[in-house]
Amino acid sequence: MAAGRAELATYEYRKTRARILATSTVCIVCGHGGSDAVDHIVAVKRGGARLDPQNMAPIHGVDGCPVCLRKCNNEKGDKPLAEVRRLVTSRDWYAGPSRL
Ligand SMILES: [Zn+2]
Ligand SMILES: [Zn+2]
Repeated sequence: MAAGRAELATYEYRKTRARILATSTVCIVCGHGGSDAVDHIVAVKRGGARLDPQNMAPIHGVDGCPVCLRKCNNEKGDKPLAEVRRLVTSRDWYAGPSRL
């Protein structure tokens, strides 16, 4: 019975993920497009809603970001989003090629 529930939750999760990625693929961690996964904005462990689309956003999954090569989902883990984003501030990802 527990397995059945877990399967259902996975199905719901996939459906929600597809819906979110159809709307946007801009990663919540690095701000680049091309996300292939979604993550909870507030981790479920921290009281976030597991299947609430309001609590889910695109994020780069196992393959990482094609633009900045960060493994955004790995970096985020269960950390609050603000904490993960703060780690990026040493570089301006939006500066454009002229700054390189
Ligand atoms: Zn990313
Ligand atoms: Zn990126």
